[in-house]
Amino acid sequence: MKIADTILDLIGDTPLVRLHKVTEGVAATVLVKLEYLNPGGSSKDRIATRIIDAAERDGLLLPGGTIVEPTSGNTGVGLALVAQQRGYRCVFVLPDKVGEDKRNVLTAYGAEIVVTPTSVAPDHPDSYYSVSDRLAREIPGAFKPNQYANPNGPLSHYETTGPEIWRDTDGTVTHFVAGVGTGGTITGTGRYLREVSGDTVRIIGADPEGSVYSGGTGRPYLVEGVGEDFWPAAYDPAVVHEVIAVSDADSFAMTRRLALEEGILVGGSSGMAVVAALRAAEKLTAADTVVVLLPDGGRGYLGKIFNDGWMRSYGFTNAPAGHTVGNLLE
Ligand code: PMP
Repeated sequence: MKIADTILDLIGDTPLVRLHKVTEGVAATVLVKLEYLNPGGSSKDRIATRIIDAAERDGLLLPGGTIVEPTSGNTGVGLALVAQQRGYRCVFVLPDKVGEDKRNVLTAYGAEIVVTPTSVAPDHPDSYYSVSDRLAREIPGAFKPNQYANPNGPLSHYETTGPEIWRDTDGTVTHFVAGVGTGGTITGTGRYLREVSGDTVRIIGADPEGSVYSGGTGRPYLVEGVGEDFWPAAYDPAVVHEVIAVSDADSFAMTRRLALEEGILVGGSSGMAVVAALRAAEKLTAADTVVVLLPDGGRGYLGKIFNDGWMRSYGFTNAPAGHTVGNLLE
């Protein structure tokens, strides 16, 4: 029999699949790792499990406790899943640029949400960092995972994502590409792949144009879950060989192509990571294998990246579109 005891036992062990159409003209093999197949729909299920395990072990989270975290949505889902299974309350703080679908998914799992303005500085009292700090102080028994600094975030990727990629490619991976948000994914996975390969795997970050990782000042961008206006402790720049900056327009155009041409419905940070991977792959040969991590699925972005009106309203007119062929109900 093949039966998981709880939903939490299905986290990780996500598959790799080869890209065919968007990679035309590229000599290297380009594989994507589908993190949307985690039960909560993103790579963040991995960090949630390890962060909560460690907090229980260290006595930071006691029975009846409350988890308080600023999150773009995916970390919230992971934490909500684990919290629900173990009887904790969750309060999540989100910037208002996060789509309604992503918000509703958190409340569906039983979490409470607080929405804050995107357009204020991190040290402003209404920023999502400040509001979550205040709630963590005020709510009795609160535990703030702080995914931006918690070492268990990168560690979860060091212990699971990295070994899975090495195992599933039989050690043939030569390049690893991931978007950088907290930096946990690239730091943990990258560190493992460098160590296990005798430091031959090259680690490439993908970043929205304007974010600090690629030399920006934090200028706003629309792609969600990646880029920062400060340097989080979860990110170790020493692990990363190169960071490639990608525009919103290119990220969203590729996100649509992945759905239309490869049958892979993912979020904007996945399109961004694939654009960076293809740029890196321009210089590579058939001997190279590039693994790109795709953090989440596209269902949370149907009203944005996959909506022609929304795309046009931001001037993204270069993106390929699907077709509506008449409406019989009209
Ligand atoms: N893409 C999405 C959609 C995310 O939610 C996140 C996490 N913030 C990332 C990419 C980046 O992952 P990390 O925080 O590990 O750098």
